[in-house]
Amino acid sequence: MARRHGYAESEITQRLIEAIFEQRLPPGERITGSQLAEIFGVSRTVVRLSMGKLSEIGVFRKTPNLGYVIASPSRAEARMMLDVRKMIEPEMVRQIAASRTEADLSRLFDRIRAENAARANGDRSTLVRLAGEFHLKLAEISGNVYLVQTLTQLQVLTCLAILVHAESESGCPRDEHSRIVTAIAEGHGDRAASDMSHHLEHIAEELQLNIDRVEPSLESALRWLAPKVPG
Ligand SMILES: [Zn+2]
Repeated sequence: MARRHGYAESEITQRLIEAIFEQRLPPGERITGSQLAEIFGVSRTVVRLSMGKLSEIGVFRKTPNLGYVIASPSRAEARMMLDVRKMIEPEMVRQIAASRTEADLSRLFDRIRAENAARANGDRSTLVRLAGEFHLKLAEISGNVYLVQTLTQLQVLTCLAILVHAESESGCPRDEHSRIVTAIAEGHGDRAASDMSHHLEHIAEELQLNIDRVEPSLESALRWLAPKVPG
């Protein structure tokens, strides 16, 4: 497999997903294989694999003239994503409330503490990423790989939709994750499910607001994606 400088396709894909979670990649912008190959110091073959994977799940869109473009979900698409998430995530947390271990709870409370710290420090990028990742952590805790795959796709696309359409910074209203985790910790499956349902409903409400947002620039995202020099 083509690989140089230690970056594998999966690591590049993961890094691009993190960049989307931090709202650093602007929806609708063109992104090229040569840009990414240069940023990561890998061959275009490796980058093409990653871009192919992200386009399979709809995160990048291949256009005849521009090549790959970062998805810019419409409001109708965003609504469909949230509809699917409402079918899945309340049931997911209901099951977790019945099966969670002490280790699961400690991971979840760590996440809540990290979200609170990022909010207190005004660290918006980290807060947005943590808020998005929270839903994936729940999927991981469920232990179902198909759930992780499905929610990764839906969560990444929801993040892009939030960037295009929502007024709120993270799409996840404050304290709602904490309520869900408390219900899970107390073993209240029904309450966890209904809290998750309301939470997703609130995200859907945010997406219907029609407010202009400052778009992030592709240039700054590419700088952010560049590998850090080991200190
Ligand atoms: Zn959330």
